[in-house]
Amino acid sequence: MPESTESDDLFTMFPLEAGAPKAAFPKAEMFGQVAYQIVHDELLLDGVSRMNLATFCTTWVDDHARRLMAESLDKNIVDKDEYPQTAELEQRCVRMIADLWHAPDPAHTLGTSTTGSSEAAMLGGLAAKFRWRAKGGKGIPNFVCGPVQVCWEKFARYFDVEIRQIPLRGDRLTMHADDLAAHCDENTIMVVPTFGQTFTGLFEDVAAISRALDELQAATGLDIPIHVDAASGGFLAPFTAPDLVWDFRLSRVKSINASGHKTGLAPLGSGWAIWREATDLPAELIFNVDYLGGNMATFNLNFSRPGGQVVTSYYQFIRLGRVGYTLVQSALYGVAKHLAKGIAALGPFEIIHGGDPHRGIAAVSWRLAGEQTYNLYDLSDRLRTRGWLVAAYPLPADRGAETIMRVLVRHGFSRDMADLLLEDMKRAMAQLDRHPPSTSMTQEESGGFTHNATPAVRMHRPH
Ligand SMILES: *Cc1c(COP(=O)(O)O)cnc(C)c1O
Repeated sequence: MPESTESDDLFTMFPLEAGAPKAAFPKAEMFGQVAYQIVHDELLLDGVSRMNLATFCTTWVDDHARRLMAESLDKNIVDKDEYPQTAELEQRCVRMIADLWHAPDPAHTLGTSTTGSSEAAMLGGLAAKFRWRAKGGKGIPNFVCGPVQVCWEKFARYFDVEIRQIPLRGDRLTMHADDLAAHCDENTIMVVPTFGQTFTGLFEDVAAISRALDELQAATGLDIPIHVDAASGGFLAPFTAPDLVWDFRLSRVKSINASGHKTGLAPLGSGWAIWREATDLPAELIFNVDYLGGNMATFNLNFSRPGGQVVTSYYQFIRLGRVGYTLVQSALYGVAKHLAKGIAALGPFEIIHGGDPHRGIAAVSWRLAGEQTYNLYDLSDRLRTRGWLVAAYPLPADRGAETIMRVLVRHGFSRDMADLLLEDMKRAMAQLDRHPPSTSMTQEESGGFTHNATPAVRMHRPH
């Protein structure tokens, strides 16, 4: 070996010695190997996604799904002419989901994949706005809902629609049908029940809301459609509570959104918007685009998008089928119930939702009962030292300063992991009892779990 003053050890190479470029667009290039190491190492500081019990989103997929994602990396879903089979798989998924949600004619209705429920919700909302206008609606359009995910506040602001959130009365945690009439008028373009609330995981009662709107129509003539935000519940209830009527079995339900990347089991970047019948999607929202020699209908907010999420959704649907989804989702509810029982047994907690598939999604939410020397932000912070990310956050403002905690049980969160979490909760509580925090934390101090609401919109929001 010749003598050399240069080392080929990665960590002695210049960029790694000097630090990664941060502020300005870098001038020089570096070896791919070095750049990879910088980025890879920096990401070590991110939380472990499977221990992130605050997220609703997929954090585990099997190797086949990973392979299909890698094989689809270069497929743009908008190029329907160039990648006709990806387009075909999207159409099959639309029909399958329409069938799952009991559309009257699933083979001929319209729907689309999206980047997530937020885009799908915008599309559902826009369709309702256009239908209202076509029926002669003037004035300022509004929609009525309970405590909603931030995407509906965005829809309201971005598209100039008034949001009418029904305040929670008494010990209610969901929108109640008997409050509807007081909030609806001739400019109400839709009512949006959340099927799987972000705060608590509870289902809003879509059937009761639909009946209340039938009564309102009989009394006043107002015919107000429903859009169901089934972001988290749309791929649960059809398998684990099939008798629960919340979908197109109710004729007033004109559109539904769901996140494929939540309980649909697809990787991140997947959502769906499905209309009851083709005529429920106003033609003005559909663009027929001539593109590289083909003609295609698009009704998305995005243009170019990766195709892998649709490919992988189709894989999951045919891999698991109704039987497989039922087994997977039932297992999640089993873990949620086990966890709820364990949390209740710890003592100072009152369970709000404990994983009953007829009441809500596979999640556990709870509050502190009585006075403690610590609050739920302190507990969340302690759990973080073991790597668990457990959301603590305040309920909507009309519930005062009440704080709750929530765990989402997702594919890949096993009973063993639930037991490890319970052990760590026990340890954290003992430590907080021995060393009470001098001043208890606030949500912001604890790092908060507000990452999909920008501070400009609202600080105090879970997902
Ligand atoms: C997660 C969620 C959304 C937003 O969905 P994304 O897929 O993250 O865009 C909307 N509504 C509800 C009820 C949700 O749980």
